[in-house]
Amino acid sequence: MAAQPEPSLILSFEEARHVVEAHAARLRPCGKELADLLEATGQVLAEPIVADRNFPPFPRAARDGYALRAADLAKLPATLEVVAEIKAGVAPELAIKLGRGQAAAIMTGAPAPSGADAVVMVEYTSRNGNQVEITKGVSAGDNIVPAGSEAKRGERLLSPGTRLDYAAVAVAASVGRTHLLVYSKPQIAVLSTGDEVVDIDVPPGPNQIRNSNSYSLAAQIKAAGGEPVLLPIAPDEPTRLRELIVDGFESDLLLLAGGVSMGKYDLVEQVLADFQAQFFFTGAQIQPGRPIVFGRVPCGAGASRETPVSPENYKYFFGLPGNPVSTMVTFDLFVRPLIDALSGLSPQKLIFLSAKLKSEIKTKTGLKRFLPAILSGEFEDAEVELARWQGSGDIAATARANCYIVIPPDRERIAAGEWVPVLMR
Ligand code: AMP
Ligand code: MG
Repeated sequence: MAAQPEPSLILSFEEARHVVEAHAARLRPCGKELADLLEATGQVLAEPIVADRNFPPFPRAARDGYALRAADLAKLPATLEVVAEIKAGVAPELAIKLGRGQAAAIMTGAPAPSGADAVVMVEYTSRNGNQVEITKGVSAGDNIVPAGSEAKRGERLLSPGTRLDYAAVAVAASVGRTHLLVYSKPQIAVLSTGDEVVDIDVPPGPNQIRNSNSYSLAAQIKAAGGEPVLLPIAPDEPTRLRELIVDGFESDLLLLAGGVSMGKYDLVEQVLADFQAQFFFTGAQIQPGRPIVFGRVPCGAGASRETPVSPENYKYFFGLPGNPVSTMVTFDLFVRPLIDALSGLSPQKLIFLSAKLKSEIKTKTGLKRFLPAILSGEFEDAEVELARWQGSGDIAATARANCYIVIPPDRERIAAGEWVPVLMR
């Protein structure tokens, strides 16, 4: 008989998300490896990156113009004597020392000469031989970035746990790091279940459907920084399901898809219970995705039941509902924090953006809904509307969508023009 979930194990969306985040906070990444800077892009940094020199290393001109003493421009227009031209790349010690009434033509990125405390933009000057007339005043410090003002030598610029996006890659490059220590990608096992589900390389019978969930999950795992491990499809039969679950627990995290609803052949929870599983929730008040299951088993469970385990020594699993859109949505809502933690990423909160609703929504109350939607418009005028869909099996509608509208459980009608939360994908 299928396990009957206790009512208390059906949580609100927010409670369920917080439970996952709390467990994720205790997980550690699996290992570290050295990666070439470009290959490391998208991975998670496993070491601190420190400034190897002052940034900038010299007082840097931020504009093309004339380096001068701001006090010399008390009366405007002012005429100064041009005593040097300093281009980017000259050694700072070659830059001259400016005296009173003197200026140096200077280029962006060049070291400001000693004695100068500001740069006037070339747009406010007119040059005549070795004289320059200046028509606009400046304050001391204008257009010169002081040495070490962005970072001091030895200062930490990036911390372990940072995703190496293009800005982080720029930081690593700026301190001369050709190779970086990154966390190894976690292995995430994917086990699709269902007697009707067949591999995509065989012609499906009239009552069979192709396995799309293993592939959508693999794509989501890759995008989240994990390494998908696809297991064979499990039938709705406990012995083979159990064998494949054992294989799945070889990975760092196991995602099962399908078989978690209340049907007679939804066996996933029942079989996991044989692995001494602890269930943290067996449902969330959401749609799609209500039957989602989250839990863990002691490491070694299923192999040798007698092996004692330490409290941290667990393998986590999710039982995701098999309806393809439910599988996709529940991954984004709940699975990501665990993959992030196993990848070494510092904890990330789930954030919804807002957009103006294009056409009215009518819905039932009681569940928080994440409905496939199309975000359009341009620049500041984003607008969003629901994609037409036939329910949580409608893969094609979801592929036409580019986000989900988030509908709070207490709203029956949302008028066009209201701002609504949007989950980007
Ligand atoms: P279940 O969660 O097992 O009750 O399945 C719910 C629905 O999703 C059923 O219509 C299944 O046929 C479908 N489904 C289950 N697994 C998959 C899969 N791997 N790929 C595509 N559809 C699936
Ligand atoms: Mg099924």
